[in-house]
Amino acid sequence: MTERDIIGIFGRMNSGKSSVMNLLTQQETSIVDPTPGTTADTKITLTEIHGLGPVKLMDTAGFDEQNELGIKKLKKTIAALKECDLVLLVIDPATFEYETDKFILKEARSLDKQVIVVYNIFRSSDKNRIDKIEELLTRLRVYHRIVLSAIDINYRQRLLEAILSNYIPKNVTVELLPFVEKGEFYILNIPMDEETPSGRYLRPQAMAEEYITRKWAFPVSYRMNLAKARAGDPSEKERWNTFINNFTQKPKAIITDSQAMDIIKDWAPDDMALTTFSIMMINYMSRGRLNEFVSGIRALNSLKPGDHVLIAEACNHSRIREDIGTIQIPNILKTRYPDVNVNYTFGREFVDELDMNKYKLVIHCGGCMISNQRMAARLRELNATGIPITNYGIFLSYVHGEKILNRVIAPWKARTD
Ligand code: SF4
Repeated sequence: MTERDIIGIFGRMNSGKSSVMNLLTQQETSIVDPTPGTTADTKITLTEIHGLGPVKLMDTAGFDEQNELGIKKLKKTIAALKECDLVLLVIDPATFEYETDKFILKEARSLDKQVIVVYNIFRSSDKNRIDKIEELLTRLRVYHRIVLSAIDINYRQRLLEAILSNYIPKNVTVELLPFVEKGEFYILNIPMDEETPSGRYLRPQAMAEEYITRKWAFPVSYRMNLAKARAGDPSEKERWNTFINNFTQKPKAIITDSQAMDIIKDWAPDDMALTTFSIMMINYMSRGRLNEFVSGIRALNSLKPGDHVLIAEACNHSRIREDIGTIQIPNILKTRYPDVNVNYTFGREFVDELDMNKYKLVIHCGGCMISNQRMAARLRELNATGIPITNYGIFLSYVHGEKILNRVIAPWKARTD
């Protein structure tokens, strides 16, 4: 069953929230269940937006009053913020009081909500105040903004277009490995090391195995001995050759741990596709935005001494000797760009927006431990500040040259520009 997307309309009292609600509901599609509320209540309307599907619209009460009713409304507004998928923040630029908007922006950020800012113009001269407001509330610039007059039906289409082109619906699903075909073999290259937990695969590995099996295809695991392979021990190459030559049906692709790229790039037969778990995961968690991570890698070419690069890991797993994020990638960076500063962020917290500006590039892990919503919020903030982002798998492939990068992104039909 398709879940309804929930759009919440927020803002100060008299900013025009109800007019925005009316603008959205004036459509041919019938309104199924309008629920009237009291002044403190959130008004709810179930409707359909062409191109988006069934939605629940919530028109929240402004909570500017400093009294009991204001507190009641505030509680309802916070509940609506938690529930909604998209925040429409309605601002009347003619007002000079922005505490409500500031509060909503802060809460929306901490809840990773998508936001569209709607400047509702009552007099055309009010438009001139928008720059001033954005100087005071710089966070507004992170989001898509639209200027309209909510009482004018002619703006309805523009509002709908702003929603359709800037909101990522919650029902969008992305295939984990879109290139997998029924009846084909897929190699999972898993070099277990001291960091590998016993008794289970890591989440991306387990997800890949499950996905391939579910698609009636055949996942086959190979435990690469990276230490031996890197030391040039011929027994490891022989073991690989025995493995790869024993298939009576040639596997279609190899999905490798990114840190094994230095070896597998030369060992993978040319006629076999090659990609990494990390690339698979970041494409999945970002809902198919792999191109942005591929474009981001180009920032490496313009790094200068003194620049800062941020390595972002979305979990706090135990880190032992050859950890990919804290040892392997920093070592490569320091060798190639000796005077570049490498910083780290771990877990669910991301960089404070004020600190973010100092980074020239963010290198993100697969992000398997955070929600799609949180990943989207990270991308939104980086996009708004113009900071490129790439990913472990892309980085560890690109350092071996353009050809390897092209090879690992080919299965995803991603662009290299
Ligand atoms: S969140 Fe990132 S660092 Fe943690 S296990 Fe997943 S991909 Fe690895």
